[in-house]
Amino acid sequence: MAETLFSKIISGQIPSFKIYEDDDVFSFLDINPVAPGHTLVVPKEPAQTLDQLSEKSAAALGRVLPKLCRAVMKATGTRSYNVLQNNGIGAHQAVFHVHFHIIPKPDSEQGLGIKWPIKPLDPQTGPTLASQIREALES
Ligand code: 5GP
Repeated sequence: MAETLFSKIISGQIPSFKIYEDDDVFSFLDINPVAPGHTLVVPKEPAQTLDQLSEKSAAALGRVLPKLCRAVMKATGTRSYNVLQNNGIGAHQAVFHVHFHIIPKPDSEQGLGIKWPIKPLDPQTGPTLASQIREALES
């Protein structure tokens, strides 16, 4: 298996403030938090991006994410939060080992800032696009 920065954290070669571990998942505090309690949740499988992750690891992550969100919110006394998952340099991924960020949003100054450049869905291209994605799911 390829060794990544997060593999080294999982194996203890690089220290971290550990929060949770099971057979498939490891969680620890982010070294550069955008808000107190900023937590990373990582599959032990060193897939680079979410689309490359096995169903087993994806299921394991899905099982523990809500529980970890509850714990981070309880510990930080925060009610609002974002779960962020970046894939690819263009999408701000810096560490190429799948990870989810749990980011408390205590106020407007801290936590995730989001640019959301909406445009209404084009009724001409929408059906074609949906059908292309459905076909890709089946292939
Ligand atoms: P990305 O931009 O890839 O979604 O996020 C990578 C995250 O990993 C960043 O938030 C960054 O602060 C965090 N990070 C990078 N190196 C380390 C490290 O050595 N230890 C910990 N705990 N977090 C790290």
